[in-house]
Amino acid sequence: MKINSIKKYSKTLNFQVIASLIVVAIIPLFIYFTLNNLAVYKNFSELERNNMHSKAFKAKTIFTTKANELAQTAKDYAIWDDTYQNVEQNDTDWLKENFSKWIPDNFGMDLIVVANNRKEIMNEFGLKNGNPSQLFENDKINKLLQEEAYDWEEMYPHGLITYDDELYLVGSSPILKNDGTGSSNGVVIFGKEITPALLSKLEEEFGYKMFISFNDYIVSIPEEKEQVAAYFDEFSKQTHEDISELGEEKIMGNIPLENISGKKIGHLFIIESRTTFLSTLQLIRKNAFSTLIISILTIILLSLELKKIIVLPIKDLKKQISKMGQNNSLEYVTVKGPSEIVSLGDAFNEMMDRINKHKKENTTLKKLTIIDNLTALYNHGYLFEYFEDKKSEGIKEMILLFCDIDHFKMVNDIHGHYTGDIILQQVAHIIKNELNDKGAAFRYGGEEFIGLLENCTLDEASSIAENIRLNISTYPSIQKHATDFPITISIGLASYPSNASTVEELINRADKAMYYAKQKGRDNCCVYSPEIDEELKNNATEFLTQKAMLNAVYALTAAIDAKDYYTGKHSQEVAKYALLLGEIIDISPQEKYTLKIGSLLHDCGKIGVPDEIINKPGSLNEDEWETIRNHTVLGSNIIEFITKDPQIESCIRNHHERWDGKGYPDGLEDTGIPLCARIICIADSYHAMISNRSYRKALTKEEAISELRKNAGTQFDPDLVEVFIKVIGE
Ligand code: GH3
Ligand code: MG
Ligand code: MG
Repeated sequence: MKINSIKKYSKTLNFQVIASLIVVAIIPLFIYFTLNNLAVYKNFSELERNNMHSKAFKAKTIFTTKANELAQTAKDYAIWDDTYQNVEQNDTDWLKENFSKWIPDNFGMDLIVVANNRKEIMNEFGLKNGNPSQLFENDKINKLLQEEAYDWEEMYPHGLITYDDELYLVGSSPILKNDGTGSSNGVVIFGKEITPALLSKLEEEFGYKMFISFNDYIVSIPEEKEQVAAYFDEFSKQTHEDISELGEEKIMGNIPLENISGKKIGHLFIIESRTTFLSTLQLIRKNAFSTLIISILTIILLSLELKKIIVLPIKDLKKQISKMGQNNSLEYVTVKGPSEIVSLGDAFNEMMDRINKHKKENTTLKKLTIIDNLTALYNHGYLFEYFEDKKSEGIKEMILLFCDIDHFKMVNDIHGHYTGDIILQQVAHIIKNELNDKGAAFRYGGEEFIGLLENCTLDEASSIAENIRLNISTYPSIQKHATDFPITISIGLASYPSNASTVEELINRADKAMYYAKQKGRDNCCVYSPEIDEELKNNATEFLTQKAMLNAVYALTAAIDAKDYYTGKHSQEVAKYALLLGEIIDISPQEKYTLKIGSLLHDCGKIGVPDEIINKPGSLNEDEWETIRNHTVLGSNIIEFITKDPQIESCIRNHHERWDGKGYPDGLEDTGIPLCARIICIADSYHAMISNRSYRKALTKEEAISELRKNAGTQFDPDLVEVFIKVIGE
């Protein structure tokens, strides 16, 4: 949960570093660059404005200069004896000839006025319909008509005047004699109308695009008339700023215009294209774009480098660790990269060392908790954990073998617990070996073992169980401790999930099958089925009586064997050989049980035979033989007190019958003699032959075998003899 939430909210290293780069490097760089550009832009705008101011001023000066030039020209004709005299003599022809023809033709004047000091127009050119007295309202010109002594500074008034709704550049001069002395007797005014043509000429001459507004008129070069009207509009909107930007491409400066008397009459405008501004702006944009590209490239390069130096080694480290997770292994990592990451890898490896150490300790501890001390098999507790583990590994089917050593209490009672423990170890060893890699072996209780098989059919499991059973019943170092009967095991089998849905149920079912095997005479393997359950319920009391009966059988066996001075263990030996033969000819569990009890008790009638007859060294007389022969009938009568089982009874009664029908007590022959009685007959005779008797020495094995062969078909069942000889090993 904690890990998940960390993962959810954390950003990748790459992302964080790029974000930091943007915050730490790129944003300040961008701000710095923008401020810088703004400063450049501001300075440049200032420069541009100042430039426009000075240009507008210069443009205005052009008009003043031109007006001054007009005044100088006027002076040349006004301060001249000829003009003076002709004005005085009122010679209008002369004045006309000179001022109205020659001067306009040579100087391109638009306005020429020659007046006497009474303000009477002596000669004029271009006055049109206007009122000429307008011209003399101008103080400075008016003054020229009156003054005698001139302020030389103001002697030639010049500048702008509006006349007849037109704008003129004018220059004037008093009319004086050649030496400039005396009082003026009139005035000469020269003027040029400010027309679009004049503006074009000035543009050509000075390089300024100009237009002028006065009263409600605008004078501009004809081609730009419409545009200029728009500019003027713009100017009016901008509340008469002295500099107006006309978009990015043009800038307009204006300067107020005064007439010759210093009265404001309008504005002079100049228009400049903003090429320098535009190129600067372009440069700034180019710079901004380059900075942006350089920033992006820097981020990409830095993040690539970062990826190579930090992210990839960390990713590689993570990959190795994830792989360990998938394989569920604890290995070491190899890290290449900067020393910090290498030392992270080293720290990880050191941690792995510690984990591995702990793991080893844990494994040892775990072993101690799950292993049975005596047998080294898994213990009772671990069975349940193991079963669940297998289930979670995906094992769907398992077969449980419940093994319980038969009559182990008696083994302990006879040989003591120490030997009992050794036998338990040997049994455990056999079970483990037989299971091999098919499953695991557990010590479930004192003398109870469980085998849990996986990936195995019921047939395979039954065959493994059968091998365990057989192996134990023939294992020399176990069987050397067998006294009255072989040490055997009973095994019950049950399958998961067909017989049970839980491990507890599975154990219970296999235990029932094992119990059933015990009922069937022990030394048996049984597979669980619901019928077994049913039968067990029905036979519950019978089984208990049977158990009590068996105890009586063992007591009786011990009593019989005690009478046999020579062998001491005759009954047990006969039982051993009989069971060996029974096993090989594959008799049913029920027959095996009969054979076991029958062979142990076959001589129980001898209890009624006096010891002198049994152990008589010489040959017996007829009566004595009769007594001996009678032990079969006597035995079958005694056994009735223990069991009414006719099969067991027939083992005792008929174990001296002969194949040819010449035996006793019933003279049965051939297969008319019960199978168990025929087997016991061979086992009894063989053991008698190889034992010392009061009347003869023991035969060798070979002699005994040839004796058996000799009597096969007369005394013994010939087929059984051959099998028996094979079993004991020729
Ligand atoms: P059955 O054929 O019915 O199983 O007879 P049994 O005698 O084996 O059955 P029972 O359960 O009556 O006896 C089990 C005996 O196992 C009791 C005890 O003497 C013996 N036993 C249990 N644990 C140990 C052990 O750790 N060591 C030894 N030596 N004997 C043990
Ligand atoms: Mg038991
Ligand atoms: Mg037992």
